Amino acid sequence: MFILLSYFKNYKLRLFFTTIIKIIGTLTELVIPLILAYILKTVIPDVMNNPDINGNYNITPVILYGSLMVLSALMFVLFNVIANRMASKTSTLIVECERNKLYKKIMSLKLKDIDDITIPSLVSRLSTDTYHLYNSLNTLQRLGIRSTFLFIGGIIVCSFLNIKLTLVFYVLAPIILLLIFIISKIGIKFFTKIQNKGDSLVRVVRENISGARVIKALSKEDYERGRYNKLNKEVFDLEIKSSYAMTLLNPIINYILNLAMCSVLLIGAYEINKTNLDVATLIAFISYFTIISNSIVSISRIFEQLSKGYTSSIRMRYVLDIKIERETIEPKYSDAFIEFKNVTFSYNKNGENAINDINFKINKGETLGIIGSTGSGKSTILNLIMGFYDYYSGEVYILNQDIKSLSLKDIAESSSSVLQSDILFNQSIRENLVFDRDISDDEIIEVLKDTDAYEFISRFPDGLNHIIASKGNDLSGGQKQRLLIARAILQKSKILILDDSSSALDYKTDAIIRKNIKKYDVTTIIVAQRVSSVMNQSKIIVMDDGIEIGYGTHEKLLETCKEYKLIYDVQMGDDSNG
Ligand code: ADP
Ligand code: MG
Repeated sequence: MFILLSYFKNYKLRLFFTTIIKIIGTLTELVIPLILAYILKTVIPDVMNNPDINGNYNITPVILYGSLMVLSALMFVLFNVIANRMASKTSTLIVECERNKLYKKIMSLKLKDIDDITIPSLVSRLSTDTYHLYNSLNTLQRLGIRSTFLFIGGIIVCSFLNIKLTLVFYVLAPIILLLIFIISKIGIKFFTKIQNKGDSLVRVVRENISGARVIKALSKEDYERGRYNKLNKEVFDLEIKSSYAMTLLNPIINYILNLAMCSVLLIGAYEINKTNLDVATLIAFISYFTIISNSIVSISRIFEQLSKGYTSSIRMRYVLDIKIERETIEPKYSDAFIEFKNVTFSYNKNGENAINDINFKINKGETLGIIGSTGSGKSTILNLIMGFYDYYSGEVYILNQDIKSLSLKDIAESSSSVLQSDILFNQSIRENLVFDRDISDDEIIEVLKDTDAYEFISRFPDGLNHIIASKGNDLSGGQKQRLLIARAILQKSKILILDDSSSALDYKTDAIIRKNIKKYDVTTIIVAQRVSSVMNQSKIIVMDDGIEIGYGTHEKLLETCKEYKLIYDVQMGDDSNG
């Protein structure tokens, strides 16, 4: 609850005015039964007792007080509408700010943290959880202030009307509030579980949709359906349980309130008989009783909503509180532009090493080729160069400096890449290539020509303005790769990383693009399955199962690395067009 209140820290003034307007509105609501009691007790008897000489009653005072009631009701509606509008605005402002903070934080998270939390969970924290937070903050202001005030105000007025009748509340209110508190605690437990299970469910759905082809090819549909059904059932069961807990609350509260009503009527009837309690006061009292009852029911609803908001805010805070600062270390330098010194790395603390004792050096403007079977650790080397993980052993240098002593900004700007999983966005070709940067069309076209992409783009009637389908699904694999390489070159970083990014290109185009890239004077690292893609690079690393089994120039490797020679013989012997 306090966590939710802390969101208003920067909006105290808005909250203050909303509260004041809400309270004025509530006061006008509370005053209505009092006016009614006054009309019944004083105004009507007055009118009845004072007929004019013709025996007619002057009902003007009744109309007057009746109008006052109508006016109060109007004021109540008016103030509520104003306050609710302010409340919605405040909640929107707060949630927008929180969502931005969360988004920025997610963008700056280390890959390791993203792996741990998982992408679906981050997405749902950004969407579902911010939505729950919005609803809670809104409810807190709209109903929270009103119900609390009606509840307290109602009991105060009742105490003045008749303290004996009010005793019923003094006994029952603590019991009800305790009940609401306990059920909310249970609710929070359930909501946390439901949200976390929901994340897993989304993850499975995502995996299944994106892996649909593989799943079909391997006839794994039944297995995957089972996995989905199991999770779905778990979420379903949790939701049923939590709704049992929550729906238990209302009948219990209603039961207690009905009991209270009976007691009030009994005591009231007794008091009218025995003491000087008049019917008008009892009627007013019962009106207040209804107001208080409604406020209790709405407080219980508010708590259900607040439990969700609380759970969501904890989930959002978990991400916001992740530390991204790094220990600062003394800068260390290398004479090579990029260097790995005895680098060993495992993605998981106690897992198998993805790469073992990797060593290599390249100078500025040189090129490095990495070749090896899938899973041999090629992309892992690239991940470390791009600074995605920093818990390796050994030393990694980029831009002649230990990567751990570079600022995150420098690391981020040092390289541009075409990765295996890279996608194009559902925007125009130009937007896909330049993002927000200021790059002229001439420059774009030059790069597109160098990546052999200009020809197919100029065939679109709208050229660079052509809108690409989501994920680039309306382009061929080779066309996509050509655009992605152009996009990476246009980023003008010092290091260009191409991870298997020419697999869909024919040998000739691949060779032409590699030759053209040279003119951009960028230190290039090319990961490929084909010898022809790496053989002309300054240095080549041959990877096998995380181990560097060969390192050097093409000529040297042909002599020293029999696996390299074998790949060369097989590929170049087979392919006459190589
Ligand atoms: P390559 O690019 O040569 O195909 P990778 O460098 O991607 O190989 O993978 C090397 C090893 O590290 C593989 O065993 C792979 O399963 C593992 N691996 C890759 N990425 C991750 C990750 N994010 N988390 C855990 N293990 C990973
Ligand atoms: Mg890879």
